[in-house]
Amino acid sequence: MRPPVLFPLFAESSSLKGVGPAVQKTLARLFGKPSVTVLDLVSHLPHGVIDRSYSPAILAAEQGRVATFSVHVERHILPPRYGRRPYKVICMNDSGFLALLFFHVKSDYLERLLPVGAARIVSGRIERQGGEISMSHPDYVLPPEKAKELPLIEPVYPMTQGITNKQLSNVIRAALQKLPALPEWIAPDMLQGKGWASWKESLLSLHRPQAQPSLDSPARKRLAYDELLASQLTLRLVRRHMVTLKTDPLKGDGKLLQAIVSALPFTLTNAQSHAWEEIRTDLERGERMLRLLQGDVGSGKTVVALLAMAKAIEAGKQAVLMAPTDLLCQQHFQTLAPWAEKVGISIGCLTSQMKKNDKSKLIEKIRLGDVQCVIGTHALFQEGVTFDNLGMVVIDEQHRFGVEQRLKLTDKGTHPHVLLMSATPIPRSLTMTLYGDLECSKIAEKPKGRKPIDTRVIPSNRLEEVVEGIGRVIARGEKAYWICPLVDESEKSDLAATEERFAYFSQLFPGKVGLAHGKMKPAQREEAMRAFASGETQMLVATTVVEVGVDVKDASVIVIEQAERFGLSQLHQLRGRVGRGEIPSSCVLLYDSKAGETAKKRLSIIRASEDGFEIAEEDLRLRGGGELLGTRQSGLPTMKFADPFRDHLLLAEAHQDAKHTVDNDPYFKTPRGDALKLLLHLFDHSEAMDYVRSG
Ligand code: ADP
Ligand code: MG
Repeated sequence: MRPPVLFPLFAESSSLKGVGPAVQKTLARLFGKPSVTVLDLVSHLPHGVIDRSYSPAILAAEQGRVATFSVHVERHILPPRYGRRPYKVICMNDSGFLALLFFHVKSDYLERLLPVGAARIVSGRIERQGGEISMSHPDYVLPPEKAKELPLIEPVYPMTQGITNKQLSNVIRAALQKLPALPEWIAPDMLQGKGWASWKESLLSLHRPQAQPSLDSPARKRLAYDELLASQLTLRLVRRHMVTLKTDPLKGDGKLLQAIVSALPFTLTNAQSHAWEEIRTDLERGERMLRLLQGDVGSGKTVVALLAMAKAIEAGKQAVLMAPTDLLCQQHFQTLAPWAEKVGISIGCLTSQMKKNDKSKLIEKIRLGDVQCVIGTHALFQEGVTFDNLGMVVIDEQHRFGVEQRLKLTDKGTHPHVLLMSATPIPRSLTMTLYGDLECSKIAEKPKGRKPIDTRVIPSNRLEEVVEGIGRVIARGEKAYWICPLVDESEKSDLAATEERFAYFSQLFPGKVGLAHGKMKPAQREEAMRAFASGETQMLVATTVVEVGVDVKDASVIVIEQAERFGLSQLHQLRGRVGRGEIPSSCVLLYDSKAGETAKKRLSIIRASEDGFEIAEEDLRLRGGGELLGTRQSGLPTMKFADPFRDHLLLAEAHQDAKHTVDNDPYFKTPRGDALKLLLHLFDHSEAMDYVRSG
């Protein structure tokens, strides 16, 4: 329920003067939504300016610049009846002649606009051709008494086809007229300290730029802060909502956990033990756990997840492990099933490839609580699977799931503890945007005995050498991955290249090469991976389907073709496919010889470091955040005014502010709380409003 004071902002643009069906259609295209509101329009900030203050002698006016002149109208020259010549209005002042050119404009209109003998101020772009200095369709033609109407600095808006800057400016100006004055939601101290104006004033000033817009302008910063604050408040509210749902502390006799630890073929690393301790403490506290477990590929997160699940099972509850693909689910199942069997946990794997009959049987068992540990994709939760007593949800490769999916999942009637796992290290600044102050455990140490991976960056014209190297690896009885880029599974040419590579290597090493890509039937792909893991084949030509989770201990080489096409974090993850056992291993990054310097620099980051967190920070520094995680996967909210990287200091302040606010005024009952509700509405965080209301 929207407060009435905001109604004018959520009015449709069609209510504005000058916005008919045609303009509406264009606006819809520009904003990418069917109905554009006043709020959308006023949030559309100029990205540049036209400076009309240039007013030289006409004769000296520079080609291509926007200039403004005071002139007298001398005479009109009508175009010939046929042809494409313009209507000309010759003007002059004591610094020269200026021709105003008009195409397809009615002469009576021009006679009224520019009567012979009248004084006019004209502004537009200068063209010099032959001896003639001209202006086609001047932007402004005004009588001297209206000189004030000429904006000396004019905002330029991001545009789309079908609308001119002037039209868009007019629409936005009309929208700005509707801006209500809103109560201030930023604390007075902060507002004063920063020298910020009100929300309304800030918007108005951004639309009336005095110079080239600066990202550091106080007005832009204020709006960025508003936006960051709104998102931080939301995260905080959601979080509070989750943790206030009390759950029973998970209690058990510890025997199951003990049995698992003894059944493991290794001892936990210090980092694993530490992460597990943090999780155990959460689970015994009687509040809902919401924790992120970050750790590089191969750092051993699965075991920690197993312990967390066992803790719930020991306390008489069910546990779920969710992974993004069927393949990963099956691998988890294969890893966990033997351990589960040893200690007497009943475990099931629910995938989309199951036979209908088997599936419904399993679903029934889950409902009755006969299966204690369930592994599955998110389809698990969409297909109306119900649990007898769900106590723990682990989400592997959580960045593959949208924020919404994650929140929904955890709101499944029962209030399970949630452990998010990620092998895509996220820089600190980003973790905060994504999760607010979600509790975070890190596994920054790899199991003992792992050897460093020898990483080389090699131009693709030295492919032959690399192929010879692979020959030696195979002769030694070791295994190699050959990764082809298939960024978009629908790209046919990539697929063809992958199959070609497979054919080529099959000829070189007959019977020893497998192929796995996303377009194959899952069963076929599965078979290829299995054959590779078991040693029936020694080389796997694959796309990024092997990116996550796959674990083949005696793979010692990974070659990545066109490495420049991959994200750094992705490369790092791919590299993590090797170096999992005792054998020294290497990673070859083949890059297109035509690739630019930045590409090479990026690749050299991978060569220089094996620390996923460090790589993520470097990637961030080099190219900004969007690409770091791939916007598609990152789950990063898209922001209108703020940039979580550039504005990371503001983000930290917003974070503190939100924390303080929600902790002290949890249901927004103070006057500032009232104003903050408006803020949440402005940024459309309606889901958060539910949590404010529920108080
Ligand atoms: P990830 O963090 O990428 O999910 P996994 O959990 O798949 O890593 O673990 C990678 C490999 O390391 C697995 O084969 C696992 O059995 C092994 N592993 C895990 N913890 C240890 C440990 N403490 N000591 C030795 N090997 C371990
Ligand atoms: Mg894993």
